[in-house]
Amino acid sequence: MTSILKVEGLHKIYQRKETWLDRVFRKNNPKLYAVNDVSLEVKEGETLGLVGESGCGKTTLCRTLMRLYEPTEGTISFLGHDITHESPGKLRHLYKDMQMVFQDPYSSLNPKMTVKEMLSEAIRFHGICTSEKETDEYIDYLLVKVGLLPSDANKYPKAFSGGQRQRIAIARAIAVKPKLLIADEPVSALDVSVQAQILNLLEDLQNELQLTMIFISHDLSVVKYISDRVAVMYLGRIVEIGRTEEVFEQPAHPYTQALLSAVPRIQPGTKQERTPLEGDPPNPFESKEGCHFYARCSQRMEKCRSATPDAYPLSATHQSRCHLAVE
Ligand code: SF4
Repeated sequence: MTSILKVEGLHKIYQRKETWLDRVFRKNNPKLYAVNDVSLEVKEGETLGLVGESGCGKTTLCRTLMRLYEPTEGTISFLGHDITHESPGKLRHLYKDMQMVFQDPYSSLNPKMTVKEMLSEAIRFHGICTSEKETDEYIDYLLVKVGLLPSDANKYPKAFSGGQRQRIAIARAIAVKPKLLIADEPVSALDVSVQAQILNLLEDLQNELQLTMIFISHDLSVVKYISDRVAVMYLGRIVEIGRTEEVFEQPAHPYTQALLSAVPRIQPGTKQERTPLEGDPPNPFESKEGCHFYARCSQRMEKCRSATPDAYPLSATHQSRCHLAVE
């Protein structure tokens, strides 16, 4: 499969302003590593699930990939072009091939624009249709494709439910025929009954339009359902990545094991082993020496305190950032 997106050594670092407390305790350069040394590749036609607790850096990573945030270090290559430092003018054209669906369908749509105005804005900018008539017909087609009615085109967002608004956001994203769709928690703000409908819609569209997708979620069952491969994030780092069955059936990183053990399984007569997560995540502004999961890890060793684990290969498709992988 051809590579669509390749990321190497990506960092997004925020520098906190120094306070008098930092001066008193001689803490220099307080930095937040929101994205910390991320390298990954996304292949044409696949869905990569990105999973982790809130605040682990999933959204920052994807917004940096989209160049909505400026990367601090590393490179981003999209469709064979280095876009790490691409100018805003060129990026606007790039967005024809790379689209994003945001988490909150209530704030991602402009309340002052009708559905038709929102869709035709993108269609016109990227020259998808050549006439008014063609644009109208294309909008009707898109609305039906995402499960809405052509008559919905003249309505404003307030006329729709959360699930319908997310369908409009998806229609706007696919209107420009992107190659890569980044879906940032697209179902987490929706009722459980609507979540399955939107997941099925994304899956159908992916198959039909041959989309490549990065799907972000904190919900492991959702990621398992929709992804071909899964990347697990913790404190800005990808700590495990592999094919969905590898990560879910043979989780190698203690953090992945703890996350999976917290998902209830309905198997009458069997007792579920749990690997509790100890304590809270460490202060993200503190030193990045050693394994970031050290303080919460039930399998930690002395060397984990000071030696930062590399991404060790467990198979041709499976990697874990844990010293246990080479023990
Ligand atoms: Fe735990 Fe050590 Fe592995 Fe980190 S490197 S996850 S502390 S065993």
